[in-house]
Amino acid sequence: MHEFSIIQGIVDIVLATAREKEVNHISLVEVEVGRASGVIREAMEFAWEAARKDTLLSQAGLKILEIPLVVRCITCGRQYEPAEVYDICPGCGEVNPEIITGKELRVVAIET
Ligand SMILES: [Zn+2]
Repeated sequence: MHEFSIIQGIVDIVLATAREKEVNHISLVEVEVGRASGVIREAMEFAWEAARKDTLLSQAGLKILEIPLVVRCITCGRQYEPAEVYDICPGCGEVNPEIITGKELRVVAIET
């Protein structure tokens, strides 16, 4: 499950930020997760429980903000929300997408 290494990365970032700002309590960490980022929400939450243990984050919640997958067809310019990145364009029937949103995987807020 690669969610464990992703979550470990997030925990490291948050702890480094907390050290830098001399914060000793964190209540909530918000992350943006795109629908096409390839991670599973339940696995993220499970990994969070394990990774936050015995750290400054042991009481911190994890809030996952899901970002929809939006692509723009390079052929005809239509913007749409496909179920999968490589679904055909509803405008022209081609498969030529440019991803606008949906690949996000980042910490967006830390609440103390
Ligand atoms: Zn198109």
